[in-house]
Parts: sequence; C-alpha cells; structure tokens
Amino acid sequence: MGERRTSRRVMVGPVAIGGGAPVVVQSMTNTDTADAVATAHQVAQLWRAGSELVRITVDTPEAAAEVAGIRARLDAMGCDVPLIGDFHYNGHKLLSQFPDCASALAKYRINPGNVGKGARRDEQFATMIDAAMRHGKPVRIGVNWGSLDQELLSRLMDENARRTEPLDAAQVMREALIRSALDSAQQAEALGLPAERIVLSCKVSGVQDLIGVYRELAQRCSHALHLGLTEAGMGSKGIVASSVAMAVLLQEGIGDTLRVSLTPEPGGDRTREVVVAQEILQTMGIRSFTPMVAACPGCGRTTSTTFQDLASRIQSYLRAQMPQWRERFPGVEEMRVAVMGCVVNGPGESKHADIGISLPGTNELPVAPVYVDGARLVTLKGERIAEEFQALVEQYVQTNYAPGAARARPKHIPVKAA
Ligand code: SF4
Repeated sequence: MGERRTSRRVMVGPVAIGGGAPVVVQSMTNTDTADAVATAHQVAQLWRAGSELVRITVDTPEAAAEVAGIRARLDAMGCDVPLIGDFHYNGHKLLSQFPDCASALAKYRINPGNVGKGARRDEQFATMIDAAMRHGKPVRIGVNWGSLDQELLSRLMDENARRTEPLDAAQVMREALIRSALDSAQQAEALGLPAERIVLSCKVSGVQDLIGVYRELAQRCSHALHLGLTEAGMGSKGIVASSVAMAVLLQEGIGDTLRVSLTPEPGGDRTREVVVAQEILQTMGIRSFTPMVAACPGCGRTTSTTFQDLASRIQSYLRAQMPQWRERFPGVEEMRVAVMGCVVNGPGESKHADIGISLPGTNELPVAPVYVDGARLVTLKGERIAEEFQALVEQYVQTNYAPGAARARPKHIPVKAA
C-alpha cells in the first residue's frame, strides 16, 4: 500500500478527518429532515451500524427548524454522532435565520455549484463561511459534476478553445471540478476560515473520472479529502463501482473520509452503505470494524445450503454483537472466522482463521471439525452444529479478547493503523 498522503487534520466535533487519523466512515439520511422523529431514528440506525459522521439534508426552513431538536433527541438516546448539514441554494439564508441549526451541526457541506450566480454567488458563499466562523464549524466544499459551477465551466471551455492544443471536453470538465473546489477553498481562506476547517470533495459518477480527479486534487492541495462516487447506483453495480474507485485511491494513500452512495432497493436498508464502506476499508487491511467471515463459494461438492446458512448466520451474529463487544472485548473486530463447505479447503482455511469450521460435503462423513488457533479443537455432529459453533465463537471471544487476556497467537493479517 502506498504512503498515506499528508493532509491537514480537520476536527468535526470529536471526530478527526485527515492528518493521519483513521479513514472515517460517513453516511447520509434519506428522510425528510422536517420529520425530526424519523430523521433522528435513521441517524441512530446509521450510527449503530458504524457511521462515524451522518449528513442530513437541510433544504427548507421547516428542516432547519428541526435540526437542534434532532440533535437533542440523539443526545437523549446516547447517540453522539456528529451531524453534517447538506446545503444547496438557500444555505446562506438557513444558516443565518436558524442559528440553533447552525450551532447544532458539526459541519456544513457547501456545494459551490449551488450557492448562487454572478455577484450574488460570492456574497452568499461569504455568508455561509461567516456562519462557519461564527459558530466555529468546519465545512466541506463538495463539488459534484451534476451541479458543477456552469460559469466556471464556460470560462474554462472558452480558455481551452483559445489554446493551440486544446484539451478534450472530459479533461476540461475534470479541471473545472478541481478548480471549483480549489478556488472555493482559497476564497474561504481569504474570508478568514482556517485551512484546518476545510475538507474537499469532487464527486463524479465514472470510476476512471473519479480516480483521475482525486489524483490531481491530492497533488494540488493539502486539504483533507472526502471520497465518494456520486450516483453509484443500485445493488451490486453501485457496490462494485464504489469499491473499485475508492480502492485504487485508498491504495495510493488518497482519502481521509468516505461515503458509499448506494441507491437502496425499495424498502431496503439504508445502513447497507455503512457496511459496504467498512468492508472496503477492512478487506483492504486499512481499518477493522467487525470480525470477518471467510466462506467458500460452494461447488458441486456441496449438495445443501447448510454452509451458506451457517456463514450468513455467523456473519449476522458477529455484526449484531459488535455494539456491545466493541466496548467489552477490545481487538475483537480483527478476529477471523472461517465457514467452509467441504474437506478440500475446509481444514486448511479453518486453520488460517482464529476459529473455523469445515462442514461435510457430499459423501463425506456427517461431521464438522472445528479449528481454533490452527489446531483441531472438537468435531461437531448432529442437528445443532450451528448453535454449537456459535457458542464456540462466543467462548473464543470471551477467552481471547476480554481485557487482560493474552491472545494465543499473533494476528494472521497485519492490520495497518490508518
Ligand atoms: S471448500 Fe469444498 S465446497 Fe467449498 S468451494 Fe472448495 S471444494 Fe467446494
């Protein structure tokens, strides 16, 4: 993995972004912020899933009027996750007219393409920066190619047309995104906001565009960077596109915080974007959040779905325990569990895990050996293999991760402190 890019540290409430801090996972609600009960409920859900910052839409006076109440509800629930306000078009008015909202938020997201036009743009942008300074808040200058500053783009297009060797349209578009972010950051600093209170992002929906834009942005400034592929899409397409784009950048040490923008399936769970963001970081060895289950894909040697059911059950069980385990069993998030479908790779993979089980494949004896720290501990059989294996996992956690417990052997995969 490449050296982590050096960036300025920005504090969002108690959460540090950049400056060598661990890469922060964030998410965004899709509730109407004017509905304080629903919004507080979803923020808490995202937080319980592991979101370290949560952004909410602040688009109307009704929404702005509820923000302080949402903060109070969350505090009453013991949910201290910092809230970020997402502003477009009228942020200057809302931040001025609702000081309780400006104060309750931990950061403001400003889209320079949606601040206003002409002379009013600068004035309205200055009003938002002034609010950030008065309330002691950081901002994210978040450019999005779907709402790129059209005046800047036209100017760059005109300049490009006068060049002896003009760039292609895509290159000009990328430069416009970067310039919009950098120029706005410079403008904010000129107004008095310290660079340590500015995070930048330039979101696009194409993987290669995102990689190109962020590589360039990373070279041209020292601001902390928020990664995200915008409009990533639904289901596996959204997950794959976000994962490959962010993995390339994270591998190069670029990115201080990230959000995976997935379109939920109808009725789907909003927390999926948090889980995917965590899994990107954990599978890359950058941070650990939840014990990971290694499971084989299954093949013609498995005639039942027993091992799939067990792998799914164990992964869900581990994730559900984490809110309590995180406090009680430090380091448990690095535990590796294996659930394998037959004897071919089952014992080998199980031995590499902290605790693993190799279920019987077709024509194998109906027994399931369990390996702990590389050695066979017990062989399970009968109808209650799943329950018994779960109990062994629980026992392993209590024995090895309780405060003061000496781990039997070193971790198999070194996890870098990001
Ligand atoms: S471990 Fe066995 S069941 Fe699983 S993929 Fe390999 S051969 Fe198939």
